Amino acid sequence: MPKLLNPSNNYKCFLCKSQATYISFNSKKYRCVEKITQCPGFIKKAEESRQQNMSKIDRQKHMKNMSDKGNAKLHKLHQDPEWRKIKGENISKNKIINGSAIDPINKSAWKLYEDDVDRITRTNWIYNQSIINPLGLERGKDYELDHKYSKQQGFKDNIPAEFIGSYKNLHLIERSTNRRKYNTCSITFEELYSLMNSI
Ligand SMILES: [Zn+2]
Repeated sequence: MPKLLNPSNNYKCFLCKSQATYISFNSKKYRCVEKITQCPGFIKKAEESRQQNMSKIDRQKHMKNMSDKGNAKLHKLHQDPEWRKIKGENISKNKIINGSAIDPINKSAWKLYEDDVDRITRTNWIYNQSIINPLGLERGKDYELDHKYSKQQGFKDNIPAEFIGSYKNLHLIERSTNRRKYNTCSITFEELYSLMNSI
């Protein structure tokens, strides 16, 4: 692959539009890297076409994978004593011991899932409130926090709790709308999936 001798701003990679440093023998197209499979534009395109060909099962698997990766990161954090201290891990343990909380092994799978989603939802509300609630509506009497893809459906579809509790799946809606909506979803599985893959 010939390297451009004097790369200037006039040469842009045909896929990612960044500075080109190579030119293809055959197509005479400029590219940012010698191996096109390493170009960020190529990677993005490949991922997009891969996702278009994905079935619901594959997407569920992919979400599970992303979630496992996230959990592995969390697991690492949990081993950091400083982080643990901040998170106050022992609070819930003490509650179980003194009887003010139910031991997780006595809860049904659904209850555990719902607790997980609620915990993640609270964290997301705290840290991403400006994204969830860009208009700064007052949460409470008139507006309620709602999961676009519902907790119940998330449980049925085996969606990792962190996706249902994610700020990307949260919005404020009018209380009356929420009462009518109850357990139903306002987005489809495919919409949830693309939300989770968005930045
Ligand atoms: Zn490129």
